[in-house]
Amino acid sequence: MAINQVHRADTAVVGGGIVGLAHALAAARRGDRVVLFERDTYAVGASIRNFGMIWAVGQQRGAAYRRALRSREIWQEISAKTGLWAAPAGSLHLAHRPDELAVLEEFVATTEPVRERGTAMITAAEAVRRGPAVREEGLLGAMWSPTELNVDPRRAIPTIARYLVEEYGVDVRFGTTVRDVSAPVVSTTAGEWRADRVLVCSGNDFATLYPQVFAESGLVRCKLQMLRTGVQPGGWQLGPMLCGGLTLLHYAAFEDCTARAALDARMREELPFHREHGIHVLLSATADGRLTIGDSHAYAATHDPFADERINAAILGCLDGFAHLPDTRITERWTGCYPSLRDGRTELVVDPEPGVTVVNGVGGAGMTLSFGLAEEVLATR
Ligand SMILES: Cc1cc2nc3c(=O)[nH]c(=O)nc-3n(C[C@H](O)[C@H](O)[C@H](O)COP(=O)(O)OP(=O)(O)OC[C@H]3O[C@@H](n4cnc5c(N)ncnc54)[C@H](O)[C@@H]3O)c2cc1C
Repeated sequence: MAINQVHRADTAVVGGGIVGLAHALAAARRGDRVVLFERDTYAVGASIRNFGMIWAVGQQRGAAYRRALRSREIWQEISAKTGLWAAPAGSLHLAHRPDELAVLEEFVATTEPVRERGTAMITAAEAVRRGPAVREEGLLGAMWSPTELNVDPRRAIPTIARYLVEEYGVDVRFGTTVRDVSAPVVSTTAGEWRADRVLVCSGNDFATLYPQVFAESGLVRCKLQMLRTGVQPGGWQLGPMLCGGLTLLHYAAFEDCTARAALDARMREELPFHREHGIHVLLSATADGRLTIGDSHAYAATHDPFADERINAAILGCLDGFAHLPDTRITERWTGCYPSLRDGRTELVVDPEPGVTVVNGVGGAGMTLSFGLAEEVLATR
């Protein structure tokens, strides 16, 4: 073998998070020889730190919602092939106040695509029947949506990487940093590759590759705080993933609801700390029956890595308002970060030079949108 051998691939992917994995899959499915580089020995970025919510119902109405539904199909295909846990749990948005109910009712009434897929308002009694954790006291009603999948990110991300290797022969190189891309040459800590197409899915790293693209992109980093319980006793199951009223101020799906203004005004008045720290509360499960709880949102160029216990207490207080868990003891706390476009764009897709595409900025919906997005990106390249 020649010293300084240059390896070859049709497509090279930088980053082993969900965005990189999704693009590697889309390229492999169309027959490309794919190499994927992940600098860590396994991916430890945003993609293993999240709730595992494949959350179609929260996405912007229109293209993003359709993209989420396409991603959901791909998650289910991978689950069928690999045995990956992807529970078709659905979701319940719980309304404990009239202004929350008003937003949900308006959303369902004005959004035919979600109604077509079975999203509907249900009574409090029905919500309690579907979700054993739902707190009945003061519950006025709920929005049931059947389209949400619950995956377990810490298992899912390594499983998808293995699936790419075993099913499609993708050359997945962990512990390999891409130092430079100058198409068609990809320079890594393990040597040089030549690739017809390079997809840069580097998540929070804005400095190593194409720093100018990131400087001009409008991306900032969003820091979130997360908590997890231990395994719930007696095989107890969460069922549908849950959220409460603050979530209606977070997701783009509800942006156009006129009833949101009144809810926003009340929340500002009653929960200024929550609004200041971007707190809205979601509850999902892991494959082995733990519960994942979060989160908060802080936006800046750089964040400290520390979790603020006042924020955790506020998250748990909110959760207690709409859910009761068999065992509330917290066994893990962590922070996560994702790049965020704060102007309503659902992704950043830029071609900094011929043959190279930077894909980033999927924000808080990378697990939900990446598979569909990758098919769209690859369809035009
Ligand atoms: C706490 C939290 C909760 C969330 N909850 C949800 C949820 O429930 N549902 C949902 O849809 N989304 C959720 N999200 C958002 C979702 O996790 C992100 O959108 C998604 O993980 C981003 O994926 P990524 O591949 O861009 O980034 P990452 O997962 O961070 O991956 C980027 C990878 O690129 C690698 N890399 C960078 N530069 C190089 C280089 N030069 N060479 C080699 N490797 C490199 C890094 O090591 C890293 O592993 C959440 C995010 C967080 C933080």
